[in-house]
Amino acid sequence: MTVDHLAIAVHRLSEAVPRWEQQLGAAASPPEEVPSQRVRAVFLDVDNTHLEFLEPTSEDSPIARFLAQRGEGMHHIAFAVPSVDRKLAELASAGVRLIDTVSRPGARGRQVGFCHPSAFGGVLVEFVEARP
Ligand code: ZN
Repeated sequence: MTVDHLAIAVHRLSEAVPRWEQQLGAAASPPEEVPSQRVRAVFLDVDNTHLEFLEPTSEDSPIARFLAQRGEGMHHIAFAVPSVDRKLAELASAGVRLIDTVSRPGARGRQVGFCHPSAFGGVLVEFVEARP
């Protein structure tokens, strides 16, 4: 299993991302809307993983709630797995608390599923379909 990306919640991509691009010397992808999570995302590639920046697209977005409670910062870590549905089923049968019991469409055309932060010591964990 590899770390697919680390995600950072921001109020505005247009303000946050250029700073990261400049300080890391890397270029971000064009913004992509992810309706299932009510966010707009951009990815910034670093050597062996990606940073995902998320801004809310509505007030009831999970990212809007996160920003209201904690402000900008680290939001989740994502692991690539061959099958998100299989991973979620394994965890569910082991009694792990999940946000998603089945996968849903995520950014970059890949299926994703989230576990409840209480299952991973307060860290929100996402599983994302590995690239073929
Ligand atoms: Zn993610």
